[in-house]
Amino acid sequence: MKKFFIQTLGCKVNQYESDGIGSALEKKGWVKNKRTKACDVFIVNTCAVTSKAGMQSRQAIRKIIRENPTAQVIVTGCHAQTDPEEIKKIAPIIDSNKRAVHNSFGIHLISHKDKTKIADNISLICDNKSDLGFQKTDFTKKNVFPGFDPAVKGSMTRAYLKVQDGCEAFCTYCIVPYARGSSVSMPQNDVLKHLRELNDSGFREVIITGIHTGMYGLDFKKRSSLLQLLEKINREKPVHRIRLSSIEPGEINDGIINLASKGNILCDHFHIPLQSGDDEILKKMKRPYDASLFEDVIHKIHKTIPTAGIGVDTLIGFPGETNKQFENTYKLIEKLPVSYLHVFPFSARKGTPAFNFTNQVDPEIIKKRCAQMRQLDQIKREKFLKNNFNTKLEGLVQNKRDKNSGLLKAVTSNYLTVFLKGKAELKGKILNLELDQLDKNLIVTGKIK
Ligand code: SF4
Repeated sequence: MKKFFIQTLGCKVNQYESDGIGSALEKKGWVKNKRTKACDVFIVNTCAVTSKAGMQSRQAIRKIIRENPTAQVIVTGCHAQTDPEEIKKIAPIIDSNKRAVHNSFGIHLISHKDKTKIADNISLICDNKSDLGFQKTDFTKKNVFPGFDPAVKGSMTRAYLKVQDGCEAFCTYCIVPYARGSSVSMPQNDVLKHLRELNDSGFREVIITGIHTGMYGLDFKKRSSLLQLLEKINREKPVHRIRLSSIEPGEINDGIINLASKGNILCDHFHIPLQSGDDEILKKMKRPYDASLFEDVIHKIHKTIPTAGIGVDTLIGFPGETNKQFENTYKLIEKLPVSYLHVFPFSARKGTPAFNFTNQVDPEIIKKRCAQMRQLDQIKREKFLKNNFNTKLEGLVQNKRDKNSGLLKAVTSNYLTVFLKGKAELKGKILNLELDQLDKNLIVTGKIK
């Protein structure tokens, strides 16, 4: 039996795609190995979101060929797509007789659009006989949605379903459109089919994900939208609940907010990339909204669903960000009913316009601002947790217990993690919960109601 190992760098979409490649190989009789040793084929699914992620991707490839000098290595993913030359440059491994035993010719580069075809072509790829030659992203061509079939199950309690890929926004700091090309969507009927398959496999929650999910359906001949998709899912209820992984501020409309209210299938949880709360910085980032639009959206969600979890991404230290502009971001979030923050320090990514912007902010200043934002995150989390006491919550018990306490963990529809005492039979079950105790580390325990 042939063995393979997949290493994934980067985001949840990459993880989903690696799981898709992995299950397709397993269906063909290959065995997944958990270690980077003694495999017939190694697959590295790379990330390009920052220069560091690119470097880590190359390090992962080097480590594999160092430990397995004669192995076949398939490299795909965003870094492979944006910087194939960097990967081809990976230095040869020299044996004790100073002979090169592995060099870049032992690495097979596969384009992002062909990720779904790796399993079917694996022997040809390794024999250098496949026609899945590497191609750069072509924005002039209409892409086909690179989907896996059947549904990708992964190893988590909550399944992911990628319904959209690519992005056409070209925010000035972001490399993603260059890696994944223009926006493409999974046909509605396929989305429903995959949701039903996941439900039949025992999943109670599916996270609807994409690169720019709000663009869902805009590429169809007969234009559709994310709202139309969510409405259809809500009508047919193929699975107990769904969650949106992330959605742009300007793409949250009344219809989507209403679908997240009680009695509907969409979780009352929004994760929104704000990046900056300063209008001038937003313009420089080429983000298509201003702080007041963001403020209105958050108020609208909170007014319609007071218990909704609202997570916000921030990108701190964009070139030219002054103290005042940073404060604008801080103060905007401080006054809004946001429940948690993800704080990212800006780092200039080669290949994006922001790489050449003047007035790059001193890394020490970025560090301090990020620390301030992380303190604000703690304040927001605590407040949100306290607001959830004495309310009825719906939690999905995760398959893995907490390593330290041994307690079960349930994820609520509004995205709280609640620790619970209970037997293994509860894993994977949906329970009605109430919060019980909150400790100083913001660990919250709950009771089953
Ligand atoms: S919307 Fe902007 S930040 Fe998001 S993937 Fe597209 S270009 Fe990148």
